[in-house]
Amino acid sequence: MLRVLVNGADGRMGSQVVKAVYEDKDLEFVGGVSITNIGADAGELAGIGHLGIPIRGDLGKVLDDIKPDVVVDFTAPRAIFENARTVISHGTNMVVGTTGLTAEQRDVLAKLSAEHKTSIFIAPNFSIGAVLMMKVATEIAPFLPDVEIIELHHNNKLDAPSGTAIMTANKIAAARKAAGAQPAPDKTHESLEGARGTKVDDITIHSVRLPGYVAHQEVLFGGYGEYLTIRHDSVDRKSFMPGVILAVKKVTSRPGLTFGLENYL
Ligand code: NAP
Repeated sequence: MLRVLVNGADGRMGSQVVKAVYEDKDLEFVGGVSITNIGADAGELAGIGHLGIPIRGDLGKVLDDIKPDVVVDFTAPRAIFENARTVISHGTNMVVGTTGLTAEQRDVLAKLSAEHKTSIFIAPNFSIGAVLMMKVATEIAPFLPDVEIIELHHNNKLDAPSGTAIMTANKIAAARKAAGAQPAPDKTHESLEGARGTKVDDITIHSVRLPGYVAHQEVLFGGYGEYLTIRHDSVDRKSFMPGVILAVKKVTSRPGLTFGLENYL
């Protein structure tokens, strides 16, 4: 049995992870951490009934006390770098769903996990469909290099653009470059600020934030007299759970830092 601690256990994603871990026969839910709801029962917050496991507040102290095999983190972009440093420094393996880590921060965490001989897995998106969307987009980009991304999320999301959109742009740009494919120049020279979105690796991303949405993305490829759109919709946070559970079970199979669920599929 792998003993799993959830950081952000009272959140929208974290509470789903508590339930998914609890229901998996190979995993044991051993603790929940957050900065709110301290003392509340993690099982009751996750809608699975009383587990006798209260949410605790000090991640470092909880790691010392409980010594989990794996920490799953779904907290906040502002907190994830420090959380990851704390977990790795305790010699504990980690699965990170929280978005917002920069490439430089990932490099620091990779070195730290090598020093402490731990494994850390980071995925901007744990949904299988979203990973396939990125894979297909990467295959199309050399043939249709003119591309923009629209990502749509619920209005409580704290970061923009989404980690998935950034990762998609990174992958498309790399595929386009490897194929020597050039997009047409953007001829817009008069626009209101933000009207043309933001650029990541020279690919335009538009971010929509509205209540009712969960996590959605369109990758739009333009051609001559034709266009091709790929769309992925996560309509329920349950869509992320098979990927999270897979990552928890596989994280120790790859020492150091691994980025992206495609590495486990
Ligand atoms: P959420 O509902 O706000 O839950 C996060 C929880 O963590 C909140 O209870 C928050 O408390 C708590 N928290 C904040 N800072 C903390 C810290 N330093 N230590 C412990 N707990 C802390 O957010 P969510 O919708 O679950 O999303 C969490 C993260 O996952 C976001 O970055 C989101 O973009 C990402 N996400 C990733 C995927 C994926 O597939 N990789 C999918 C969906 C979401 P407060 O409310 O007091 O701040």
